[in-house]
Amino acid sequence: MTDSSDRELRHDELRDGIAGLGEHSIRKSYYPELQQRIAELERYRVLFDQSSDMILLLAVPSGHILECNESACRDLGYSRDSLAALTIFSLMPPSAAEHAVRLFAEAQESVLKKETFVTTFATAGSGNLPIELSLKTVELDQSLFAVADARNIEERVQAENALRASEERYRTLFEDSRDAIYMSLPNGDFIDINQAGIELLGYGSKNEIMQLNMERDIYADPTARRQAIQRLMNDGYLKDHEVQLRRNNGDYIDVLLTSNAMHDEQGCIVGYRGIMHDITGRKKLEQQLLHAQKMEAIGRLTAGIAHDFNNILTAILGYATILELKMTGEGPMKQYVRNIVASSERAATLIKRLLSFSRQRPLFRTSLDANSIVRATGELIAEIIGEDIALEILPAAQPIIINADKSQVEQMLMNLVMNARDAMPQGGILRLKCEPYLLGDDFIQQHGYGKPGEYALLSVSDTGTGMDREVLRKLFEPFFTTKEVGKGTGLGLSIVYGIMKQHDGFINVESSPGAGSTFRLYLPAFRLDDDPATRQASPE
Ligand code: ADP
Ligand code: MG
Repeated sequence: MTDSSDRELRHDELRDGIAGLGEHSIRKSYYPELQQRIAELERYRVLFDQSSDMILLLAVPSGHILECNESACRDLGYSRDSLAALTIFSLMPPSAAEHAVRLFAEAQESVLKKETFVTTFATAGSGNLPIELSLKTVELDQSLFAVADARNIEERVQAENALRASEERYRTLFEDSRDAIYMSLPNGDFIDINQAGIELLGYGSKNEIMQLNMERDIYADPTARRQAIQRLMNDGYLKDHEVQLRRNNGDYIDVLLTSNAMHDEQGCIVGYRGIMHDITGRKKLEQQLLHAQKMEAIGRLTAGIAHDFNNILTAILGYATILELKMTGEGPMKQYVRNIVASSERAATLIKRLLSFSRQRPLFRTSLDANSIVRATGELIAEIIGEDIALEILPAAQPIIINADKSQVEQMLMNLVMNARDAMPQGGILRLKCEPYLLGDDFIQQHGYGKPGEYALLSVSDTGTGMDREVLRKLFEPFFTTKEVGKGTGLGLSIVYGIMKQHDGFINVESSPGAGSTFRLYLPAFRLDDDPATRQASPE
């Protein structure tokens, strides 16, 4: 290492040079260059040691640690010397070590591209430090080395774990909520829905629902979703917005919707998140209460008017009858008077209906077999309903004893039968049935009303026009009719409703357009085994 001062110093010469510094054996001309080179090396050393990453210089393919920086010693808890006694493979878990061995073997044939992967390094304290490891081979002095750059990702992993834990917590909140929670795309496709949501909508699994579109398949009225979104846009959120949804089985449910929009970084809406709270039961009760109140008010009003009107009619009828008696011989005048009497009588009948509707007529209750009423009504109506309609009367095999006003129950059945007939102008089948019914919790759950016990179930079914939702909603309202003037009064079903209330019974209707209708009357029955009236009333 003598002659030339302008040629590049080789690595080993430099090392030897440093080693020999103390011995003053270096030529003077060589000295400044050496000093400069040492300074340079020291700068690299500082850079090397100041790196927060662990940097290791490795022998290839043995994996021996030739050099390491301070970060490596600090993070792994080894002294420089003890690290130098190890291979990088011994710091890694077996699968990662195998991978590295393979890489180093390959690197001998062709230069290793940089390879980065996540693994762990064993620390001196027998812990495992999560790292992101980059391996790259370098050629120095025609020999092959590898540089390992290991980044300590402990904090990142901890943060990720914390995030995962928090996500899991929210996931649990989402899944375990008793309210239905969902997320949907702007077009209405589902992104996610929890178990309560799946149950609320009546589906068997999340997969089934994920195929559906809220607007097309879930909203009873598709435009209602657009309206809800419009409102959300205006107010920035939706709170307790009432909508009607359709369940898997076709039933409608009322829910309160609380929802807001999800945005991307640009502020565009990427979907909606919402909570649905089922209020179907509450709504049913409310509607019943409302209906009962309305009936009560109308009842009082009609009762008042009908009462006064009845007095006036009695006078008209009385005087007209006297007039008729006093008129001797036939003549047009006598016919006029007869017309007055006939009209007054018709008016009196109407008043009676009004009075019975307004529930002012007291009940005359007796214990009787519900089957007998059905049979009697069946005989009565055979003549009224016309030939095109086939009549099926189906009493129960055993007596079902109810405590009821016979004529009122007959009146109810008559009203229902008349409606059934009107619904089948082209003919059809009219079925009048009586059967025992045990009303239980499932009934109460399904209808939102009812009292457990035994009942006589009287049903009137027809195969007529059926009714749409709009008609079904108003069905029992007094004066609601779809029939032309003179044909319908709209009082028939109001009367039925009033009589059922008086008998502590329940009534419901099943109908859809084109599919006919079934009206069911549930009248409280005596328990067959513990009532003496049973034995009395049972035949033989
Ligand atoms: P009205 O018979 O005088 O119209 P109701 O109270 O008896 O009054 O019935 C009210 C309405 O309910 C009817 O106008 C009709 O639209 C509907 N309706 C009742 N029963 C049936 C039925 N069995 N099939 C179809 N529609 C019915
Ligand atoms: Mg009617």
